[in-house]
Amino acid sequence: MQGLGQYQDLKSAATIDAMIHYAETLLGIRFTRVRKNRYNARCPFHADTQDRFMVYVNKDDEVRFHCFGACKGDWGIYDLIMLRKNYRWVLLPADRFQTQQPVFKKLQ
Ligand SMILES: [Zn+2]
Repeated sequence: MQGLGQYQDLKSAATIDAMIHYAETLLGIRFTRVRKNRYNARCPFHADTQDRFMVYVNKDDEVRFHCFGACKGDWGIYDLIMLRKNYRWVLLPADRFQTQQPVFKKLQ
């Protein structure tokens, strides 16, 4: 999980390349690029025979992952990592610079 700290705001369309990279390398999802800001893949949460798992950018400029197959789920990248890796996204207490550091913690 090291390196995710560099992307503390993995959310907007500007970071979609990083998100796709994480989803592919950490979560083993293989995406097909459909067009700008649009990728499809087999859903990682059910036995998918078609690319029903879709990456899109919503009206708030947030990159979302949506399953049009069995799960009908809609997730952000952090949700995906937590679901797939059993990690939880937490904020550490403020440091001496008074900034809160978001990190992933492995659940027991
Ligand atoms: Zn699904």
